[in-house]
Amino acid sequence: MNERLRSLPSVDEVLARPAVRALAERVGRAAAKAAVRAAIAESRARLQSGDDLDDEPVPDARVLELGASEAKPRLRRVINATGVVLHTNLGRAPLHAEAVRRVAEIASGYSNLEIDLGTGRRGQRSAHLEPVLRELFGAEAAHVVNNCAGATMLALAALGKGGAAIVSRGELVEIGGGFRVPEILAQSGCRLIEVGTTNRTRAGDYAAALEANPEAMILRVHRSNFALVGFTEAPSMGELAALAREKKALLLHDLGSGALDAALGEFTASQSLKEGTDLVLVSGDKLLGGPQAGIMLGRREMVERCRKHPLSRALRADRMLLAALEATLRLYRDGRADELPALQALKASPSELRQRATRAALLLQEKGIACTVVESEGQVGGGSLPLRKLEGAGIALADVPGPLLAALRAGDPPVIALVRDGRVVLDVRCVSDVAELADAVAEAAVRATAQKDDKLALAAEGGPGPAQSTGDPLDLEV
Ligand SMILES: *Cc1c(COP(=O)(O)O)cnc(C)c1O
Repeated sequence: MNERLRSLPSVDEVLARPAVRALAERVGRAAAKAAVRAAIAESRARLQSGDDLDDEPVPDARVLELGASEAKPRLRRVINATGVVLHTNLGRAPLHAEAVRRVAEIASGYSNLEIDLGTGRRGQRSAHLEPVLRELFGAEAAHVVNNCAGATMLALAALGKGGAAIVSRGELVEIGGGFRVPEILAQSGCRLIEVGTTNRTRAGDYAAALEANPEAMILRVHRSNFALVGFTEAPSMGELAALAREKKALLLHDLGSGALDAALGEFTASQSLKEGTDLVLVSGDKLLGGPQAGIMLGRREMVERCRKHPLSRALRADRMLLAALEATLRLYRDGRADELPALQALKASPSELRQRATRAALLLQEKGIACTVVESEGQVGGGSLPLRKLEGAGIALADVPGPLLAALRAGDPPVIALVRDGRVVLDVRCVSDVAELADAVAEAAVRATAQKDDKLALAAEGGPGPAQSTGDPLDLEV
């Protein structure tokens, strides 16, 4: 074994091969060297596991393959064929071209990020967005931080630290990625007072808790990806606000969805403020359709306390976020919200989507790929409207799901697809370019077939069979 390991070529030997020298010319020496190292490590691992390598222990073809992937960035654009519009694992809302243009402009140079151009004195970075946020959401004041989880953390630390927050047992949820309401409260130094039951909580439960804990605040949490149906009860924001006013308690609302358009069906931050909430927290990349951001809206005194808290600095929004968010908000102000890609994907009609799927299917059939147009139910995603089904369309491919899904993910751009009833389905709701999708699928189908033939040959020799896991992206956090 040692002798066989010693027979492996050195990095320099492989780098000196003509094919690998040509690779280095194309992708750069660093990427070529990384590919050579990875290829040698693979061969070493195969030898150690008892595999017999061919005459060529580190094949050129494998080095070139690894070199091509080394040359590509790790964070890449993908085609979202899942039908989940605000897919958290796929980056949620695509930005409008105007927002992208503003990000490029602000990011590529200096800006008045923290300078007041009127006085020449130091300014507040989120002050640039306050006027448009106040106007659109009907808020007295606004502050912007990195994301909504950060905004929740900051609000609890600034407003509730050393005190307590009353939360319904039906709202002690995990929002995703380990963001659990009881743990966030503990982290922020705010004591949790649970009221009601999982399914039913009444205004009287909050009133009793406030009697016993007059300093406590009320925290209402949107259940995000989780829904309660059946024998349920919860007071409205208006009832909670009336109670909070009567008892002189604060009312904080972790809403998540940044919808400005009530027609989307989600309770909006504007409504919450109108009902009398002191501070409401929303995400910039949920139903608002902008960049990742945590937007804090409400009474000036509460917003100022948050702004001045040290965590505000730790969670501050960077200039690219602010540029993208300002551009997104201006589209709303100018009556152009319908142009936002996320809202277009949400509002696309079933007939429009069927036409899009038909176009994609024709392109694929021209390339010799067997497929059919199918109905496909999309989702809003991002923890918004979890029960809402979006009636849409997709293309079903007749193939073994495991290898094809992997081949789709290995493409350029990668395609993230679904498995339904044992078939690979490409939902076209979030696909803006069907020709690009068809090209990517055709290439993946060729690769998957080649891989399947390899696997079948291996299986015939008693090697590993087809992949067990389908890697269905709906298993991920949406
Ligand atoms: C999504 C969500 C969050 C977290 O927002 P991010 O912007 O993803 O950090 C917090 N609270 C609620 C209710 C949410 O739905």
